[in-house]
Amino acid sequence: MLDTSEPLETLNWVPRPRLLALRRLGIETVEDLLTHYPRRHEDRHQFPRFPREESDVPMCLCGEVTKTSIRRFGGWKKIFEATLQEPNADALSQPLVCRWFNLHYVQKMIATGQQMVVFGKPRLRGKRICMDHPEFEVIENDEEISIHLRRITPIYPATEGLSQRALRSMIYRLLQSVDCESVETLLPGELRTGERGEAIRAIHFPDDWDALNAARQHLVLTEFFAMQMLIGSRRVQSHARAGGAHCGRGDLLNEFVRRLPFELTAAQKKVIEEIRRDLAAPHPMNRLLQGDVGSGKTVVAIAAILLAVEAGYVVAFRAPTQILAEQHYGVLRRWLDPLGVRLSIRTAARRDESAPLPLFAETECLDRARVSRASRRDACAIQSEVDAAARHVFVGTHALLHEEVSFSNLGLVVIDEQHKFGVAQRARLTSREPAPDVLVMTATPIPRTLTMTVYGDLDVSTIDEMPRNRGKIITALREASKLAEVLTFLRTQLEAGRQLYVVYPLIEESDKLTAKAAAVEYERWRERLQPFSCELLHGQLPGLEKQEIMERFRCGQTQALISTTVIEVGVDVPNATVMLIENAERFGLAQLHQLRGRIGRGRHKSYCILLSSEPSADAGAKLDVLEKTSNGFAVAEADLQLRGSGDLLGTAQSGLPGLKIGDLRRDADLMRRARAAAMSILGDDPRLESAANQRFRRLIVEQENRTFANVS
Ligand code: ADP
Ligand code: MG
Repeated sequence: MLDTSEPLETLNWVPRPRLLALRRLGIETVEDLLTHYPRRHEDRHQFPRFPREESDVPMCLCGEVTKTSIRRFGGWKKIFEATLQEPNADALSQPLVCRWFNLHYVQKMIATGQQMVVFGKPRLRGKRICMDHPEFEVIENDEEISIHLRRITPIYPATEGLSQRALRSMIYRLLQSVDCESVETLLPGELRTGERGEAIRAIHFPDDWDALNAARQHLVLTEFFAMQMLIGSRRVQSHARAGGAHCGRGDLLNEFVRRLPFELTAAQKKVIEEIRRDLAAPHPMNRLLQGDVGSGKTVVAIAAILLAVEAGYVVAFRAPTQILAEQHYGVLRRWLDPLGVRLSIRTAARRDESAPLPLFAETECLDRARVSRASRRDACAIQSEVDAAARHVFVGTHALLHEEVSFSNLGLVVIDEQHKFGVAQRARLTSREPAPDVLVMTATPIPRTLTMTVYGDLDVSTIDEMPRNRGKIITALREASKLAEVLTFLRTQLEAGRQLYVVYPLIEESDKLTAKAAAVEYERWRERLQPFSCELLHGQLPGLEKQEIMERFRCGQTQALISTTVIEVGVDVPNATVMLIENAERFGLAQLHQLRGRIGRGRHKSYCILLSSEPSADAGAKLDVLEKTSNGFAVAEADLQLRGSGDLLGTAQSGLPGLKIGDLRRDADLMRRARAAAMSILGDDPRLESAANQRFRRLIVEQENRTFANVS
């Protein structure tokens, strides 16, 4: 009997060209092939009658090819048609016309007299029922027919040079030669239902749908459990690293809170306490701070910074981009300066202290002027108790990573993540010994399944409450053709004294062309909004000019700001209560939600109008979500459902092996169970020393290897 780790070369019945094709799918060993799971199944016991109407649900049909033809159009373009007749056709039967456009190889594979299984959506075209580009399989009536027909048949992710039929036969034969009993079941007792070997057999060739579902559940749980063991063991390791307590008494923090023009929300207080506890503990903190846009994460980050600084430690604050680094710098300066905390900025463009800020040159001067003498005196009183030299906060981009010298006393790293860093990059700043405490902030709420996976090695603090003074935002989706009506509405708002953002989906801020497009649009808007004053803001403008434009808008001199997505971050103008987003379908949900977070900041009711010129079903579904909910967590969950999670795992970014069968959208509940089981095992035996846990230890090593294979 075969060992599953054996390379496929050892099987003498697999032809060489197939080995190569399999390798293209990443399949090298027996195990790889056995875990090349079907992407769906077809019930080929019995086929439905041929449809006489169209259907949005794809159907699996079987029939005989009675005619084939090729039609040419537009010079070299070709349509190949195969007409199918259903078995036992009667007078009422309608033939089915399968069509392929410009697919040369298809016509070589199909001939009259053949039996075919096709899968696709039947559509009414004129008087004919057609299927365009169906998946298809020619049935050969040989001794292998029982593998392909009259059963629940697996359909695989295929590749060039390897047909469904060939792949299916190979896996069938492989299952015959492997002793499924010998395949180790890698689930702990509470998750275990049946044996892994049986599940693998049934995922390919199930006896019925129930058996298939049970098999799938077993395999998904196994995969999730392995992943959670990996994540859990990383947590154990990071907890065991040499760290230190980086928490001051809290005098600076109290002073900061006293100066805030508002009360902290209960959620902010709760989260600050969670962070304080971690900072005070000797093991390194690894915490994710999440909250909806506008929920006040920055205040919480400053609280953490002040606690660490007061204890005499240096703090690094890392932002994903230059613009954001400078923006954070501006905000931090306002709060830290009066408290006597030193602040420096380090970005790729500004490595030394005396150089000017390339983008927001003005920020410093403005904020310095705001600091009153009295507040400086207070701050000095506190300062004298602590070693002043150590109280230093560095804000920067990845250039921060190269600043080894000044970080000898690094106590806390705050990372503003925005989905832009991965675990691997995160590690670079934090892997030093002794380990600093780490606070990761995300600008968008993260769906639960992702906090259990991509961020699974972190403890999570959630700000689940908005400050009370937030106005309501009404969101509406409008077709671009209704612009005239929308304009009337905008004008009534401007007349009432409110201000307006108009946003364009120009994603490449560095692109000169798009800046030009924005300028053209700007001229149009100026006409439309006469006599109200407009200005144009985009990423290509020099920093000073940008700052001045923002300042004029902030103080109400300008009524409308025509802008690219540069306003997505950090802009806070309570009187701006209307936002119009052009070509809204081109933005991601999360980004639209971020943009919308710029309004609803004052006491007036706010309006967000999503203008879409492309009323496709997808775009509609997406924008509907925003129309119906203003809760960032709900938006994030919907975004995950609509977009899928494929790109989130199994990349160098996530630092996790990819999923072969589990689906973060469908299987959130299984993930929860797998996580609980893994946590409980690691809780009892963190180093997996007991004999019973040795198999799980191997599982972790295997997963680490798969991860590194991914990264390279
Ligand atoms: P986030 O980063 O979570 O989007 P910010 O920290 O930028 O949110 O806060 C958004 C705005 O709300 C800022 O102007 C901030 O000063 C203000 N803010 C923060 N916390 C509170 C609070 N508890 N009450 C009122 N306003 C607050
Ligand atoms: Mg913010």
